[in-house]
Amino acid sequence: MQMPEPDRAALGQRSELVARFREFLPSDSVVVDEAALRAFECDGLTAYRQPPMIAVLPETTAEVSRMLKLCKAAGVKVVPRGAGTSLSGGALPLADGVLLGLAKLNRVLEIDYPNRAAVVQPGVTNLAISQAVEGEGFYYAPDPSSQIACSIGGNVAENSGGVHCLKYGLTTNNILGLEVVLMDGEVIRLGGRHLDQPGYDLIGVLTGSEGLLGVVTEVTVRILRRPEVARGLLVGFDSVEAGGACVADIIGAGIIPAGMEMMDRPAIHAAEAFCHPGYPLDAEALLIIELDGPAVEVDHLTEIVRGLCEKRGAVSLRVSASETERLNFWAGRKAAFPAVGRISPDYYCMDGTIPRARLPHVLARMAEMSGKYGLRVANVFHAGDGNLHPLILYDANEPGELERAEDFGADILRLCVEVGGVLTGEHGVGVEKRDLMGTMFTEVDLNQQQRLKCAFDPDGLLNPGKVFPTLHRCAELGRMHIHGGRMPFPDLPRF
Ligand SMILES: Cc1cc2nc3c(=O)[nH]c(=O)nc-3n(C[C@H](O)[C@H](O)[C@H](O)COP(=O)(O)OP(=O)(O)OC[C@H]3O[C@@H](n4cnc5c(N)ncnc54)[C@H](O)[C@@H]3O)c2cc1C
Repeated sequence: MQMPEPDRAALGQRSELVARFREFLPSDSVVVDEAALRAFECDGLTAYRQPPMIAVLPETTAEVSRMLKLCKAAGVKVVPRGAGTSLSGGALPLADGVLLGLAKLNRVLEIDYPNRAAVVQPGVTNLAISQAVEGEGFYYAPDPSSQIACSIGGNVAENSGGVHCLKYGLTTNNILGLEVVLMDGEVIRLGGRHLDQPGYDLIGVLTGSEGLLGVVTEVTVRILRRPEVARGLLVGFDSVEAGGACVADIIGAGIIPAGMEMMDRPAIHAAEAFCHPGYPLDAEALLIIELDGPAVEVDHLTEIVRGLCEKRGAVSLRVSASETERLNFWAGRKAAFPAVGRISPDYYCMDGTIPRARLPHVLARMAEMSGKYGLRVANVFHAGDGNLHPLILYDANEPGELERAEDFGADILRLCVEVGGVLTGEHGVGVEKRDLMGTMFTEVDLNQQQRLKCAFDPDGLLNPGKVFPTLHRCAELGRMHIHGGRMPFPDLPRF
């Protein structure tokens, strides 16, 4: 991936901007030192690195608003950042841009049990929300594996998912209200503590917008009562096909487990070596299934699921007998990425979604590609919703391996689209999948999406270079007529 040439005019405003930021922010919240800026140079997609021109770390909505207003007036780009765990390069800084770190907005503002809602600042970690309400028997359902670190603001921007999203929905289904600062410094409030609101669903538009439309400064989330019982099943199969078919059987029987994840042999072995959850090392595929609800219902469903697994020829099956054992079943899956990090110097985590029934075909094609590119791959899936996370193993110190891993990853995503799936399940487009957007969307589709961006940020200053493969001027978009998918004036320089 090519980083854009820095804009000299923006670089020339650095000292002036720093002075203006320091008028309302303490000096340690305006980072300019080269070594300190290195701390922000990448997010979870570590293959790409670029320190920002300046990093600012405000503590209030008013400070975020003032800072954005200044950048807008100066025509300087801004990249919002939560915890920096994005795996698609969404929070990758720009050499001529200001990185807006939201980690200091980290307070739980209010917990409203009667309305089953919590109001939090964007820098609060996902896990901290559940911890704040667990004393009263509540929790926040979407649970990315990165939940110990990732921020709720980042979750909103990426529409993050997790193991429990199969039954309880993604971030978008668990957000009731937002406070958002627009690029011109205006503060808007959307939704509240109620279920629906009149007018366009702007919360839906903002959720998953990857920091391109506005900066989230407050989030009202839905909290749920903890189920009476949660029980895990750990089921080994001698083929991925059998595991995949069993997933279809369970969903087909009308059962929506709280979570249903699959790992292939390389991922099982890496996880077992890392945290010893007791995974069956002779299995080709492992299903981790969680059933939750009232005890009587969970007992009943456990027997149905056990029967379906046995019918599909499960080679091992354990049912958790305690909460510790259930959590242990999940420990290996939740640590799958770091576990794979131990068996390879580098790995590239892909994220595509396919119709569940195409899993055996996609895995077979992936194995062929693995041979073609000479790179190993370990697979973890959100099996219930067809979201794949192939982890391509490579060594960045070997010349050409990163490029081969990128090409392999792009082929996997093209395959997802080819079989009727989509480019991303939960990690977002960022810079990683930006240039593949054309495989899913026509020029007309993309322009329509960019018009929405222009309505929020007409100068294109908020997180530019992410999501959209080409950057059109908003004025140009408004006037452009596209015929037969062909751009007019294709030789016109676009930035
Ligand atoms: C080990 C590991 C496991 C992971 N597992 C999962 C998983 O199971 N499910 C999943 O969905 N993701 C997962 N992720 C990806 C990542 O954790 C999520 O995308 C997460 O939501 C990012 O949150 P963050 O606070 O780190 O955001 P960042 O990485 O800082 O930013 C992500 C994007 O959000 C924007 N942004 C951040 N904060 C704001 C804000 N307040 N307002 C506007 N825009 C903002 C940024 O500009 C960027 O585009 C995983 C990552 C790692 C490293």
